[in-house]
Amino acid sequence: MSDPFDRNYTPKTGELVQLTPLIGVVTAPNAGPMTFTGTQTYLVGQGALAVVDPGPDNDAHLEALLRAIDGRPVSHILVTHSHVDHSPLCRRLSDATGAPVLGFGTANEGRSAVMERLAAQGNLGGNEGIDEGFAPDRKIADGEVIKGDGWALEAIHTPGHLSNHLCFAVQGTGAVLTGDHVMGWATTMVSPPDGDLTSFMASMEKLAARDGDSVYFPGHGGAIKDPAAMVSHQIRHRKSRESQIRQALAGGNPATALQLAEQIYTDVDPRLIPAATRNVFAHLIDLSERNLVQADRPISVDAVFFEK
Ligand SMILES: [Zn+2]
Repeated sequence: MSDPFDRNYTPKTGELVQLTPLIGVVTAPNAGPMTFTGTQTYLVGQGALAVVDPGPDNDAHLEALLRAIDGRPVSHILVTHSHVDHSPLCRRLSDATGAPVLGFGTANEGRSAVMERLAAQGNLGGNEGIDEGFAPDRKIADGEVIKGDGWALEAIHTPGHLSNHLCFAVQGTGAVLTGDHVMGWATTMVSPPDGDLTSFMASMEKLAARDGDSVYFPGHGGAIKDPAAMVSHQIRHRKSRESQIRQALAGGNPATALQLAEQIYTDVDPRLIPAATRNVFAHLIDLSERNLVQADRPISVDAVFFEK
């Protein structure tokens, strides 16, 4: 399968880079194995601005954002999802600008019934990088259009990476701010119970069904210039992971999520094996719900899964 990801992206960290007349980006200084070259904070508008994903609680990034805002009014602070590399700076930015914080809800908002049930009954692990204190001043619903000074953003609820994940379509421009749902450098982590692969696939199909999107600006990495191709690649990629997992279990070879990840992810940075294990675990829960695999005990991080 050809790989559409761009791992050569080099941001100008801390500087405002104008991507389109309406959309600028400031990259946060939090590069790392899970964040690639750092979180991308987007500024939408030319007069009063929307700031999308203020980023991690980091002094240098707050200063960089205030420099980029350059005294212009900020009418909205929007959050794609409440992971610690995306939302925590919203409070200090709100204090500095007076703008309200808008998001889908707290970290568990939008969780599926399946994940609610599993989270209540078992040890699923997970909970990586959740901004526990996040609570928006105002909740945004799926499909809601937030109108500002010369811009309008349509919220698209895209649970999967996190249940409260939103993408924002910048109406009239063809651009969509995709947060961590679709990224330019890698596929996203889906770690139960916060992450939900069944929801993730439905959210991918939701984006695939949209018309007129011509570019994605993700939470990490560069612009995705062929959104339709990227979305169909990612749907195929997850389906091929699912086949790899089912093949590994076939013929009576039970295994844990970690054993499967070590067997399947042979070409990744070893630091990413824990994240890969979470992705495999997400597949195993999805497959269990579809009655294709079964666990030897109530579903948990240590459960051994076998073919049904
Ligand atoms: Zn995230």
